[in-house]
Amino acid sequence: MDTIYDSLQAIQATILQAKRTAHRDDEILLLAVSKAQPSDKIRVAYLAGQRAFGENYVQEAINKQEQLLDCAIEWHFIGPIQSNKTQLVAQHFDWVHSVDRLKIAARLNEARPSSLTPLNVCIQINSSDEESKSGVDIGSLATLAEAISTMPNLKLRGLMAIPAPTKDLAKQRAQFKIVGDAFKTLKHTFELDTLSIGMSDDYVAAIHEGATIVRIGSAIFGARASNFKNEN
Ligand SMILES: *Cc1c(COP(=O)(O)O)cnc(C)c1O
Repeated sequence: MDTIYDSLQAIQATILQAKRTAHRDDEILLLAVSKAQPSDKIRVAYLAGQRAFGENYVQEAINKQEQLLDCAIEWHFIGPIQSNKTQLVAQHFDWVHSVDRLKIAARLNEARPSSLTPLNVCIQINSSDEESKSGVDIGSLATLAEAISTMPNLKLRGLMAIPAPTKDLAKQRAQFKIVGDAFKTLKHTFELDTLSIGMSDDYVAAIHEGATIVRIGSAIFGARASNFKNEN
């Protein structure tokens, strides 16, 4: 599985190049999205130096965490959160990118064990006005951010978004700019440092619009197995 190592190297080089063209010298975290990938592939990426991994399904993630207890991995939950899964998410992750309503935030805050540091939280926003998309509308963002900022066991870090996929670089940038602008506005009121935007096919555009975390799956691990059992 040499290719995971090669892919990580290539993506880090592309990130560096995009930072240069965007005249940025701040840090960008590469989050390796390992949903539907077996734990041995995560281990290969870990041995190549990768430390932050993103998962979408709670039970699938916990199963893999148990097989990787010897690895100092930072686990990020990036999938839709059902309210009956908030306790497990609060116990088993360092970050949650996909908080999009007050009820979920309150349940995560309540369930976060006091023995752990506050759970790092991004609010997922709906930047494209499509009804089917998850994420809070930009108009309701400030209210949700205000509520989360008072919760002692959560640490509000920033925003996450998943714009509609497109191959058109200008369209990618236009969509990410909406998110980046919302982030800038919110930073007037809250101390935030995280903009989680960009996936395998659009992370260069996201970096130009201010991404501080790019969430990349298939470009690292290859296509996901459609028959992977996630037991969510
Ligand atoms: C699957 C997923 C990714 C990674 O997608 P790729 O196209 O494989 O890079 C990133 N973010 C979220 C929220 C995802 O569900």
